[in-house]
Amino acid sequence: MKPEFDAELETRLLRYTAIDSQSDAASPTSPSTKIQFDMLNLLVEELKEIGASDVTLTDYGTVLATIPATVTHDTPVMGLLAHVDTAPAFNATGVKPRVHRAYDGTPITFPDAPGLRLSPEDYPYLATKAGHDIITASGATLLGADDKAGVAIIMTAARHLLENPDIPHGPIRLAFTPDEEIGRGVHADLPADLGADFAFTFDGGAIGEIEHETFSADGATVQIEGVSIHPGTAKDKLVNALHLASKIVQTLPQATMTPETTDGRDGFIMITDMTGTAAHATLHFILRDFERDGLAAKGTLLQEICAAVQATEPRARITCEIAAQYRNMRYWLEDDMTPVDLAHAATREAGLTPISNPIRGGTDGSRLTEMGVPCPNIFTGMQNLHGPLEWISVQDMTAATRTCLILARRATET
Ligand SMILES: [Zn+2]
Repeated sequence: MKPEFDAELETRLLRYTAIDSQSDAASPTSPSTKIQFDMLNLLVEELKEIGASDVTLTDYGTVLATIPATVTHDTPVMGLLAHVDTAPAFNATGVKPRVHRAYDGTPITFPDAPGLRLSPEDYPYLATKAGHDIITASGATLLGADDKAGVAIIMTAARHLLENPDIPHGPIRLAFTPDEEIGRGVHADLPADLGADFAFTFDGGAIGEIEHETFSADGATVQIEGVSIHPGTAKDKLVNALHLASKIVQTLPQATMTPETTDGRDGFIMITDMTGTAAHATLHFILRDFERDGLAAKGTLLQEICAAVQATEPRARITCEIAAQYRNMRYWLEDDMTPVDLAHAATREAGLTPISNPIRGGTDGSRLTEMGVPCPNIFTGMQNLHGPLEWISVQDMTAATRTCLILARRATET
C-alpha cells in the first residue's frame, strides 16, 4: 500500500472532525442546523482552491462541483457523495480528535472519559490494525468519521485528479450533502442537479465493503382518541387512550420482531416514541425489511393489532397511517449491476477483497437509487459509529482513496 495520501487524509480528517456539524431531526429547516454551513462553506472554499469547476452551494444545503473529463470521447458521468452532518445520537460539540501514531495494539484509553476503553479484544477489526495510524475522539464526543472520512477521501481524490490531468477519466460530479443522519440528505432536485449516470457514496465501514442492499423502510403513526373525564366521576365513562396504547405495544411480537431480537436478513417493527394523555395518544413506529412483501406484512400486522384493540373499545377511535420512507436499492441495482461490478473490480484492483453485506439501515444512496441514480455505498474504514468509541485507520482511508481513483479510471471504460 502506497503511503502517498496518508498525511493529506489525516490533516483533512482532523480539520473536518473538529467542526461541529450535527444534524437535528426535530428541526423543520433545510439543512436542519445552521452549523452544517461551517462544513459546507469550508468545502466550497477548498474546492475552489484545488481548481474544481462549477462549485455551488444549493439553497437546500448541498455543495456540488465538477472535475472535468480528461478524455475526449463520450463517457458516463460518475457521481461521488459524502455527507457533512454527524449523528444526533451522541455529543458532537467540541470534538478533539487524537492520533495514535503507529498503533501498538494495546487497549486505547480516553483523557475525557477515564473508564472508557477501546480494546482489540472487544473489537477484532482493531486488532488487525497494529502499526496503522488510528484516529479517535477524546471520550466526551463521537469522532464524526461518519462521514467526514468520506468527505476527506473524496476531497483527496479530487485534489489528486485535478493535479494530474494525465490520469484518464470522464466527467466526475461531487456532492456533499447535509442531514443524512436524519434521513433528509437527498433533496428532490439533487438527481437533476447532480447530473450523474451513476454514483457512489463513501459512507461504509471495513475495507472492502461494497454495499448495494439496504433495508426498505416505512414509518407508521398511530393516533388514539380516548374519552376524557374527571377521574372522580369516571366510572364506566373514561376511555384512557394510554391504556389502549400500551395494549397495542404489548400485543406486538416483542420477542421476535424488534431490533434487539433480530439481525441478518430479518426485519422488525420498532416503537420509537409514545406521547399523550388519557384523552389522546400518538405512537410512532419504524418498519424495516429487506423485501417488499416482508415490509407490507409488518404494516398489515400493525394495522390488524390496531383494529383488534379498537374492537375491544368502540368508544375510542384508533387510526394507523403508514408512509413510505426509503426502499432497498437492490430492487433497482439488480436490473443494472454496472456500478456494483465497477466497485467490485476497483476494490480488487486496489488489492482488497470486496465484501457485500446487506445494510440494516438506509443511505443517501437508497433514495438516490430509487430516484434514478444507481448509487452503491463504498467503505471508508470508519468503525463504532455514533458514539465515543468511534475510530478510523488513516491507512484504511488511503485504501478507499486509491479505490476511488481506480473507479474514476475504470468508469471511463464502461
Ligand atoms: Zn454516514
